[in-house]
Amino acid sequence: MDLGIRGKRALVCASSKGLGLGCAEALAQAGVDLLMNARGTEALEASAQDICDRFGVRVDTLACDVTDEGARAELIERAKGVDILVTNAGGPPPGVWSDWDREDFIKAIDANMLTPIALMKALLPQMMDAGWGRVVNITSQSVKAPIAALGLSNSARAGLTGYVAGTSRQVAGKGVTINNLLPGIHATDRAISLDTGVAKAQGISMDEARDQRAATIPTGRYGTRQEFGATCAFLCSQHAGFIVGQNILLDGGATNMTI
Ligand code: NAP
Repeated sequence: MDLGIRGKRALVCASSKGLGLGCAEALAQAGVDLLMNARGTEALEASAQDICDRFGVRVDTLACDVTDEGARAELIERAKGVDILVTNAGGPPPGVWSDWDREDFIKAIDANMLTPIALMKALLPQMMDAGWGRVVNITSQSVKAPIAALGLSNSARAGLTGYVAGTSRQVAGKGVTINNLLPGIHATDRAISLDTGVAKAQGISMDEARDQRAATIPTGRYGTRQEFGATCAFLCSQHAGFIVGQNILLDGGATNMTI
């Protein structure tokens, strides 16, 4: 299917690895030029070069912490005129409800709620002026069903979800859509770090921790960044202009719910 977005330009945050990289690759495959971002330069430059070589699109990079206000200002400056915004950042650490103090919540809210909101606030007006735009926020399955150890993520992402529910309906009339993509467990570094925590806590091997988790997913396996990226690219396509303010779960059926 031709996604109809060849020649458009996207800012894909936190995209040197994992789900962000999957989104960058799928957009590039659809002919979208990219501005990619991550904190570490080495993986960012390697991924950008690889995408450039495979898909022949223009790829710019800016290595910075997207959750840092000053660094983000430069990213926003470089992103001026983008048609597509994919927001993403690392997730908060796991723990127990009684571990977390005000500072822990402020950090999580800053990274996983206020950062995407700041990016949208900066880049939505130009999309609205242009009469076309697409925003996809990478959030989490925890928005639909809380994950006990990820209370910081549950809280911060719920706030972002509320903001998107209201804002998406205010900008849709200008041809701009905002939606959230909710990953369940995907085979990325984040999954390795979560499985490492389980393996340590339960005194089991990494393979056992992975098999144990995979057995809780109806598909019996983890998702891939390619599957995730393809869904993101569709949401950014011409065909998705009537999808507004949705929370789309990609979890292999793991969240047991009817609607
Ligand atoms: P990942 O494999 O660890 O990759 C994270 C990517 O983001 C890397 O490119 C990393 O590069 C970059 N990054 C992290 N923090 C950043 C920051 N502050 N500024 C700029 N770049 C940053 O993680 P992932 O699995 O793709 O997860 C992406 C998001 O989805 C996270 O918020 C995670 O919590 C959420 N999620 C993931 C899963 C899953 O199963 N994978 C499930 C639910 C939710 P640098 O380290 O070099 O910056």
